[in-house]
Amino acid sequence: MLQGHKPPPKILIADDDDVMRLMVKRMMEHDDYDILEATNGEECLQIFYEQLPEVILLDAMMPVMDGFTACERIQASPEGKGTPILMITALDDNDSVDRAFEAGASDYLTKPIHWAVLRQRVRRLLKTKQLEHNLQQTIAQLDVLHRIDRELGYTLNLERILDLAMDTAIRWTGASACVVGWIEDELQQLKRLANLGGTELLANPVPQDSLQYSKQFIARIFQEDEQYYTKELDAETSQLIIPLIVQGKPVGLIGLDRVLTSIVNTESIEFLIQLASRTAAAIDKTRIYQETENQAVQLDQLYDISATISSSLDLSEVVDSMTRGLTVLLNASSAFFCEYDAQKKSLTVHNQFVIEGMKDSLPDKGIIFHLTDDIPIHYLFEGPFNLDFGIPYTKENLQQSLASYHVQSSLIVPLIDEGTLMGITFVCESRFERHFLPNEITLGRSLAAQAAVALKHATLYQNVKDLEQVKSEMIRMASHDLRNPLTQIMGYLGLLEKTLGDRLSKQEVTFMENARRGTERMDSLLTDILNLEKIESQREAAWQDVQIVSILGDVVDSLRAQAEFKSQAYVTTLLEEDVIVKGSETQLKQAFTNFVGNAIKYTQEEGTVQIRSEIKDSRFYFEVEDNGYGIPEERQEHLFERFYRAHTPGTEHIEGTGLGLSLVKSVIERHGGEVWFSSEVDKGSTFGFWLPLSKNNN
Ligand code: ADP
Repeated sequence: MLQGHKPPPKILIADDDDVMRLMVKRMMEHDDYDILEATNGEECLQIFYEQLPEVILLDAMMPVMDGFTACERIQASPEGKGTPILMITALDDNDSVDRAFEAGASDYLTKPIHWAVLRQRVRRLLKTKQLEHNLQQTIAQLDVLHRIDRELGYTLNLERILDLAMDTAIRWTGASACVVGWIEDELQQLKRLANLGGTELLANPVPQDSLQYSKQFIARIFQEDEQYYTKELDAETSQLIIPLIVQGKPVGLIGLDRVLTSIVNTESIEFLIQLASRTAAAIDKTRIYQETENQAVQLDQLYDISATISSSLDLSEVVDSMTRGLTVLLNASSAFFCEYDAQKKSLTVHNQFVIEGMKDSLPDKGIIFHLTDDIPIHYLFEGPFNLDFGIPYTKENLQQSLASYHVQSSLIVPLIDEGTLMGITFVCESRFERHFLPNEITLGRSLAAQAAVALKHATLYQNVKDLEQVKSEMIRMASHDLRNPLTQIMGYLGLLEKTLGDRLSKQEVTFMENARRGTERMDSLLTDILNLEKIESQREAAWQDVQIVSILGDVVDSLRAQAEFKSQAYVTTLLEEDVIVKGSETQLKQAFTNFVGNAIKYTQEEGTVQIRSEIKDSRFYFEVEDNGYGIPEERQEHLFERFYRAHTPGTEHIEGTGLGLSLVKSVIERHGGEVWFSSEVDKGSTFGFWLPLSKNNN
């Protein structure tokens, strides 16, 4: 225990009467005092400054300098101010008593002295002085604690609080240096957070794991449950450590070097403990604030990265953003993604990413790791986890492999979608050994979950794209292969018709006619299928600014003859000025053609077809209205589906494929627009769509 050995209080007796001094000394011997003597005022002053006694017994009448003057001088000096002085006087007159108090005496006694009274008075003066001293010390302590509390209240400046705490601790104890140590979660070690003055205390960080077993002095607070520890350095100085406690657990310490053993007592220790508790709260609060701030930043990043990953359907883009995203989000130096093959139980490196400036060398694309049979694969489903925790070892021992790639730490992030392991991303750190923290693991898990879904979508999309490719190829091949024999049949039919001419019976002529119509239908079916295929496989990248009004004009003109052939009224209300739509000219031409063509086709002779276009709300609107057959309500639902034909009574003779409307819908929607229609049997139909205008319009 550091409690200082307290010397007996010093009492100075100033009296020119030797007998008197001797008597006083004798009488006071019962109590444990250190008695000092002076024979006149001047000597009294000299001894006072040398020894700084706690109490002075001062005779009023002395040679060289009287007691009143000596009293005044002492009280006027900074060292002497407030020193209890008991004036001893032979004079019992009121003037002398007044003079004694005016000079700053605390009390007075008249001769002859009543010894019991003297002893009592001296004790009381000492006690008062002690109380006053304690009070002042408490006020000073409270002042410091109050300042720290205030700083705590409005600042998150850890440095300032630590400086204040260390400075106070040094002043309070006379220590040569002060250190504040804290357990860094990320590095998992106890290390210096700050220090004032040079000391060996906590010069090197101590791994958190070994704190329980370390023989170092500073480790004691993590092993036992004391409020402080001291270690003697020599007869006068010691080292002192006080734990910094958060939620009942020591998480750091204040260490003081070369503390003056004599100065440190129970009160000082109590104050230091209070100081430590405030310092711990300050560090904790700042840490929490920093953590919260970091988490907010990380959540923001998580959101952005997730959005980026999910925004693409391209498999390699998704994998690339996921690998980069995890590296950045977890503040690591690199990452690589391995695809998992469930049958072979193997991981194949798919891609890698290294932060610029880092020197990580990672396993090359295509390298295969085989998982050992004894590691149940379901273990991975509990991830992400730090690789240094062991498991899932591979036959090639992944951990060793990574070490050879200069990876110091790695986090295994499995990508799992609906219970299927799709792959694993290894997030690596090559700069220092690192233990990924629980909140980082949570972040990794969130991103991995999103990435797994995106990965699945991209894989599906890739499959669909591959299938579409095959389908397009098949359609193209089949159509071409069909077209050749069909052309031959049509040719031969024509030849037959010509050569046989009049020799054919009436019935045979009808047969020939039917055969020709059949081949023509097949031909238009093939044309439609090929058109649709061409349009669907056309890429948006090739889109241009299209002058939509003039395209519509071309279509209207090209179909006019058909309408006139059926003696229909062909009414057009088109825009005078052209506008621009971004898109494919061929596809849009096809869309107009199909709508207008249908209106002519599904309207009886002498009917009316009206074509209109206008601009409204930055959109180009087009519609075509006819007063033809119309479509029964119950057949309207599937109208825009491929190969759907409404088979309205009266339209049976009209040939078609049921592909036209589905084509218009897919073209218009691809261009960011919408189609609509309304129809009533025997009254007619209106078909229309709108398209967004290009930004390139004036
Ligand atoms: P197709 O005309 O080749 O049969 P579409 O996809 O163009 O194929 O049209 C699908 C069906 O919608 C047509 O079979 C027809 O029954 C109906 N239809 C399309 N346009 C009209 C219209 N203007 N009036 C009446 N029926 C129509």
